[in-house]
Amino acid sequence: MAILREKVLEYSLRMSRSGMAPSTWGNISALDRGSGVVAITPSGMEYDSLTPSDICLLDLEGAAVEIGRKPSTETALHLAVYALKPEVGAVVHTHSVYATAFACARREIPVVNATLAAVVGGRVPVAPYAAPGTRELGLGAVNAMGGRPAVLLAAHGVLAVGSDLRAAYTVAEIVEDAARIACLAGMLGAQVELDAAETARIRTEYLRNYGQGE
Ligand SMILES: [Zn+2]
Repeated sequence: MAILREKVLEYSLRMSRSGMAPSTWGNISALDRGSGVVAITPSGMEYDSLTPSDICLLDLEGAAVEIGRKPSTETALHLAVYALKPEVGAVVHTHSVYATAFACARREIPVVNATLAAVVGGRVPVAPYAAPGTRELGLGAVNAMGGRPAVLLAAHGVLAVGSDLRAAYTVAEIVEDAARIACLAGMLGAQVELDAAETARIRTEYLRNYGQGE
């Protein structure tokens, strides 16, 4: 599990330094489906102070695999995703500012840029409000997410998922980027959305051809 812990730590530091998770907020996890072990960031610790052994190891019920730090208060949110979405191998939860502004306004992020169409495949939906740290938050988020890899948590932040940490982190970055662009486009007077057919075409092309085919 050393590699899983190191990967979670690596992306936690990236998230913190990007500004998408102010102070000690936000959290990241990754699942090893073979063993059913989840590595998740600890609760309330400064990201820059973390070492791999601070990353908590849990089973899919939330029980500690190894005694260590207290896990993130959003552990139930992460575990709900793994329980209900078998294709997901990593979860990134941020409080990134522009996307959270949409979450607070309880407005979906519109598809005004092609990158959001490619990476998310449509508007970023909004889950109904549920208290932080609850299983209800996780169930509502997964339900609202549908087939998308991201959802806004009302009055709270962003949940992004992927087959691995790199994929989930990319979704979190692109959601924030799209929220900022949509906000600025709105200030310029027009949030012109791509239509559904073009959004679907861009998404298909991205899944088929983008990257180095690793
Ligand atoms: Zn949060």
